[in-house]
Amino acid sequence: MVDALAGLERTLRSSDLEGVSMAPRVVVVGGGAGGIGAAGAFKGVQPDGEVIVFTEYEDAAYSPCGIPYVHGKEIASFEALFLATKEAYVEQGIDIRYETRVAALDLQAGTVAIEGQEDVGYDRLIVATGFDYADPGVPGSDLEGLYYVKNIRRAMEWDKVLDDVKVAVVVEATPLGLEMVTALAHRGIETHVIDHRPWAMSDLADPDIAQPVEDSWTELGVKMHYGVTLEAFVGGPRIRAVQTSAGELPADLAVICTKKVPNTSLGTAAGLKTGPTGGFIVDNRMRTSADAVFACGDCVEVPLGVGNLPVQGLSGSHAYAQGKVAGINAGGGTREYQPVYVPWGMVAGLWMIGGVAYGETVAKALGIPHVMGAAQGISRARYYPGVKTLKVKLLAEPGTLRLIGAQMVGQEGIKERADFLAMAVKTGITLDDLAYMENVYSPPIGALNEPIALAAQNALANL
Ligand SMILES: Cc1cc2nc3c(=O)[nH]c(=O)nc-3n(C[C@H](O)[C@H](O)[C@H](O)COP(=O)(O)OP(=O)(O)OC[C@H]3O[C@@H](n4cnc5c(N)ncnc54)[C@H](O)[C@@H]3O)c2cc1C
Repeated sequence: MVDALAGLERTLRSSDLEGVSMAPRVVVVGGGAGGIGAAGAFKGVQPDGEVIVFTEYEDAAYSPCGIPYVHGKEIASFEALFLATKEAYVEQGIDIRYETRVAALDLQAGTVAIEGQEDVGYDRLIVATGFDYADPGVPGSDLEGLYYVKNIRRAMEWDKVLDDVKVAVVVEATPLGLEMVTALAHRGIETHVIDHRPWAMSDLADPDIAQPVEDSWTELGVKMHYGVTLEAFVGGPRIRAVQTSAGELPADLAVICTKKVPNTSLGTAAGLKTGPTGGFIVDNRMRTSADAVFACGDCVEVPLGVGNLPVQGLSGSHAYAQGKVAGINAGGGTREYQPVYVPWGMVAGLWMIGGVAYGETVAKALGIPHVMGAAQGISRARYYPGVKTLKVKLLAEPGTLRLIGAQMVGQEGIKERADFLAMAVKTGITLDDLAYMENVYSPPIGALNEPIALAAQNALANL
């Protein structure tokens, strides 16, 4: 994901280089997927340009996405998550300043301030300060034993702690919450999940999509507490329990998986404008409200391709792609970032869930008119060993029948369908197109009847 070096060769199109002239100095604040993507792409258009990346962390080139799977023991070690050596960045001319916090931006002077050091000047600035987990905002938030999953070095330390944890409470069934619940359960830890919402990932997934996940958690021994409010972390100096509106849960550890909020304090203090989601406002070249200042990743908001709503805090792959656009344009190029359709997918419990753009619950909540069809299909030929059920739900615009969203639950083949359906939404594919789509039939990998086509046929029949 954060493979900026490989990105150098892959990111460029000839049109990106229109107007590129003298080599500027670019400063990037942030060493995550956005910042590293930006630095690599900038060097792609400006091999002689100077790029300095500041990060608060000890490392830059690693995939945080793999951390829950090391905790769950599916991946043997954290070392596998590192994508490039520090030397590789040096060789590519990317100057990464580790464990260095940028204290302030001066957009008029064109400098960034670092405590105890001289200000660093820039010709172009890229803000890629990412996300923070929303502050639980309850008493006891400063106790030992509250784990915010992000920095790989801290994750390595927490992994050792997990060996002695008997009972853990995961705070909120967000996407990361689902991954951490599954990881802790795999690890044999008694795991509770609390959420004030009514089911797992209810901001995104429909209840019938989340249900198989929850059933499989029950099989794994997970205790779910929905419609329950977090009131306090109890103990001292270490956490002993989590106080909720439904009573106290004993806990050796609380994993904080609250909503991702954009980390914009540095930029807003300097005057960068934010939008309704709280993320920085950027145009389609990732330019902020200030001259020569770009932003990318989880600190920005971008338009959803269906309905044009601003969305924020998407994924590492979005952050990386936005970083490339910011880096190319900071280097004088002309790359545009397209509206997003947000294909998503993940493993949770014994299932894979996924989708694109709107699900039924969100569409209803936002009052988006839609027609819908669902079907339960299979992932391989019915006689092939390992065949799994696969449920697909499709949402389309009434009248035109253009696809506006989808959700799925199965045990394989979710990612490919989510990617395909995102392109289908983007390109205006209709239920009629999908109902009679061609599909691969090969016993080990695909059934005669494609579940997407079955869902589209059912949607048409419902009309
Ligand atoms: C546990 C976990 C699992 C994930 N799983 C997935 C997944 O399965 N799929 C997926 O696509 N994505 C996944 N992600 C990615 C994630 O959800 C984000 O979308 C992604 O990390 C955003 O990248 P970013 O570069 O915008 O910000 P971040 O990753 O938040 O990076 C922000 C950077 O800014 C730096 N920074 C902030 N403020 C300052 C400052 N003042 N001075 C200096 N440096 C500063 C930080 O040190 C950091 O380097 C996961 C992330 C985590 C943590």
